[in-house]
Amino acid sequence: MIWCIAALIVLVIYLFWRFPQLRKTWYLPKRKGFVALMYHHVGVLENPQDEQFPFTLRPDMLERQILFLKANGYTPISLAELETAYRAGKSSIQKPVMLTFDDGYLDNYQNLFPLLKKYQVPALIFLITDRIGTPGYMNWNQINEMKASGLVSFGSHTLSHRRLRSLSDEEIAREITESKRLLQEKLGAPVTAFCYPYGAGGFDKRVRPQVFKAGYLFDFSTKKGINPWPWKGKSTLRRAFPRGGETLFDYHLQLTRGQSKL
Ligand SMILES: [Zn+2]
Repeated sequence: MIWCIAALIVLVIYLFWRFPQLRKTWYLPKRKGFVALMYHHVGVLENPQDEQFPFTLRPDMLERQILFLKANGYTPISLAELETAYRAGKSSIQKPVMLTFDDGYLDNYQNLFPLLKKYQVPALIFLITDRIGTPGYMNWNQINEMKASGLVSFGSHTLSHRRLRSLSDEEIAREITESKRLLQEKLGAPVTAFCYPYGAGGFDKRVRPQVFKAGYLFDFSTKKGINPWPWKGKSTLRRAFPRGGETLFDYHLQLTRGQSKL
């Protein structure tokens, strides 16, 4: 009996090693809730070895993902809709998802914004305030044009994109509060969403309280998973991470398991 079990374990390990498809999360139970999707670049990278390849979604793939959401009854929600549900403690929105984009890359304006307009899908973009208007990043004119469309909200991704856990308390406070103040001044509206650079600090007792002290309502991490709906704000929001090169089956796993592979 014991040999049978041992042989079975060895067989399973071999199969998982031999067939990478099996390492995906299809065998995990499906979960319902609020899926925050984490993206970065939208553009075309040909070389899968490129460091940015997993962080770069082809525009045609993003379009297929938006169509997949629509065809499967998902509701892309805006930051305002998240806030409404949070304040009410209830929501009639079915299968809510949110498209979030980190860092404020120029390709978000060039390649993402046309898709958002075409399909009238809302999105949330986290800006690194020191990099606004620098090469490769959006400038204020582009940011304001996106905001004026009513489709794009903006959150803070700190001033300088450093790992908050490695900073002093004073530096952490400055990264969190100064970026908020600057964005609010330029956008003329409250900034309620915060995203931790590298996800670092989302579960840190020294960092996270400062986010709420600064007046944010929502903090987004890089921890994978699906969130309860309506969101009650008890912990840091988890995000599913659709990578460049993934298929629509992977996307289905992201939406139903919070991750496509372990
Ligand atoms: Zn980032």
